[in-house]
Amino acid sequence: MAARTQYDPATLVALDKAHVWHPFTYMKDYVESDPVIIARGEGVRLQDIHGRWYYDGVSSIWLNVHGHRVPAIDRAIIAQLGEIAHSTLLGQANVPSILLADRLVRIAPPGLTRVFYSDSGATAVEIALKMAIQYWANLGEPRRRRILGFSHNYHGDTLGAMAVAPDEIFHWPFLGLLPEHPRAPYPYCYRCPLEKAHPGCQMACLAVVEETVARHRDELAAVIIEPVEGAGGIIPAPPGYLRAIRELCDRYNLLLIVDEVATGFGRTGTLFACEQEGITPDILTLGKGLTGGYLPVAATLTTERIYTAFLGERRHALYHGHSYTGNQLGCAAALANLDLIEETGLIASLPPKIEQVAAALAPLRDHPYVGDVRQKGLMVGIELVADRKTRRPFPWEAQAGYRVAWKVRERGMLIRPIGSVVIFMPPLASTREELGEMLQILLAGFDAATEELAKLAGGEG
Ligand code: PMP
Repeated sequence: MAARTQYDPATLVALDKAHVWHPFTYMKDYVESDPVIIARGEGVRLQDIHGRWYYDGVSSIWLNVHGHRVPAIDRAIIAQLGEIAHSTLLGQANVPSILLADRLVRIAPPGLTRVFYSDSGATAVEIALKMAIQYWANLGEPRRRRILGFSHNYHGDTLGAMAVAPDEIFHWPFLGLLPEHPRAPYPYCYRCPLEKAHPGCQMACLAVVEETVARHRDELAAVIIEPVEGAGGIIPAPPGYLRAIRELCDRYNLLLIVDEVATGFGRTGTLFACEQEGITPDILTLGKGLTGGYLPVAATLTTERIYTAFLGERRHALYHGHSYTGNQLGCAAALANLDLIEETGLIASLPPKIEQVAAALAPLRDHPYVGDVRQKGLMVGIELVADRKTRRPFPWEAQAGYRVAWKVRERGMLIRPIGSVVIFMPPLASTREELGEMLQILLAGFDAATEELAKLAGGEG
């Protein structure tokens, strides 16, 4: 083990650039860059192979809850290793996955009683889609196999997940082969497609959703939605919106799939975003924070109504599974994560942190290239614009968010923007002091990037 850490930084950089194809990364830029190679972590910080420390400003892509090297989670995994690392869940069971399912059912929105495991957010979504479509097929309604999705929502990178959230930039080679599903506009209030303003609009956009549902009602199996549009730019749906979608689904007898892969486990200030709307979806997808950000476990939860529809003939079973479904190490980590969330009173500790973030970000509203500052819980998206008056966006290719991210990195924090949206998602257990430092770095990064953003905005504004 020790020998592996003896590789010198230059060799590691060279081997990385020679062999590792990084996800969601334009490798042409990457191989030219000075990449961050993480060697270890401690609390809410990460250390690279040169010994430099950085705050983990996006929770290692939105999943870290309690920080890194958390003794209780480390211990739980080591204890599980002393028993067994993995055995299959196909047709047999294992101890931690049973205990975790029981736990999830007790903390999830009421009525969700069945847990189907997988290993990533995308697979949790694939399972949700297949459950919804097969539910209707099992009931003798095979025509109902379309899923209504929302514009710019993101559900993962497998084919089914892409199909319900197609994106012209990311998915262009595949668009022609994805099954077509109807889509409705997500309530992106800063750029309202109806050119109205919230709350005066009284969510007039819901009528557009209803029209789309009504048009496709005979072929629709379900509606899938993110409570906060995540990868689409951190866009929280207005209060009441998710509840209205639940009611719409009830009126049209459609299943509702809520994708809480990003929002679950405290990210929006409550354990699940659904709680804030007082709703239970028919299918709930969970991932990311489920193991505290330790191991790849995801889960698709559903109701007895859906589950029992798979108990008819043998062919009515859900023939879906992955090799590592229900992995014991991951489930043990998840149980330790949930214990810690309770023991540390994590959820109750969030409101002052959420307020601290909101207050610290307020001055950004005056930044010459900030168009919109959006926050839900400890999920923050800051949209850069080339022109504040006209809201003219920076072109996507300009990757304006990186101008800020680089400055932030130089100052000791790692963040990963999406296009022109700078994203800040600190680990939920960050202390007020740590949050204060992270916010200072973030703001300093915006200041330092102003000149470059001005050049990028050009004289066109
Ligand atoms: N759904 C949502 C809402 C997500 O934010 C993500 C990942 N960002 C996914 C699904 C896909 O999860 P994974 O990357 O684990 O496949």
